[in-house]
Amino acid sequence: MSLDAVLAEIRACRACAPQFAHEPRPVVRVGSATRLLICGQAPGRRVHESGLPFDDPSGERLRGWMGVDRRTFYDHPAIGVAAMAFCYPGTAAKGGDHPPPRRCAELWRERLLAQLPNVELTLLVGGHAQAWALGAEMRGGMTGTVRDWRAFGPGVLPMPHPSWRNTAWLKRNPWFEDEVAPYLRERVREILAR
Ligand code: SF4
Repeated sequence: MSLDAVLAEIRACRACAPQFAHEPRPVVRVGSATRLLICGQAPGRRVHESGLPFDDPSGERLRGWMGVDRRTFYDHPAIGVAAMAFCYPGTAAKGGDHPPPRRCAELWRERLLAQLPNVELTLLVGGHAQAWALGAEMRGGMTGTVRDWRAFGPGVLPMPHPSWRNTAWLKRNPWFEDEVAPYLRERVREILAR
């Protein structure tokens, strides 16, 4: 199956419709030239409405870590985005979005990644992406896994989610923006330059 065919199937997917209070809107942005793949959690409400991944304050912070502007983020063919779930999962009663439905990764992830043979660096953004990709290799949780980021390179970089909810985490763990973000910027610069 070709990448276009998988993407067409994903965009037509409504498998979670019975669980959602809204119409599913799959958001995924990859191409055959994708060499830097960003794997986050699931779209938030704003991304659900715009259809553009990371079109929100989380995206602004992520672009800052990567050292790219908005235009490069969306227009450079080497940058792709495929979250653990492609649709906004809704907001929980006590605040915050529901976690990405597991069904999405089970249905689509292997088929999609199989059509992206040129990926050189995968950003595992948040614990859900890390748990799926690293499994038992996780270091007990997101913080320990990101702390040991050098052990997973050069093809994989575990990162915290850039959500405002992690602002306190970033303050407690300044090593991320001091050590990991500069490494990420350099890798992004090198990948985009070729
Ligand atoms: S989240 Fe994934 S599995 Fe669920 S409807 Fe959207 S594309 Fe389909």
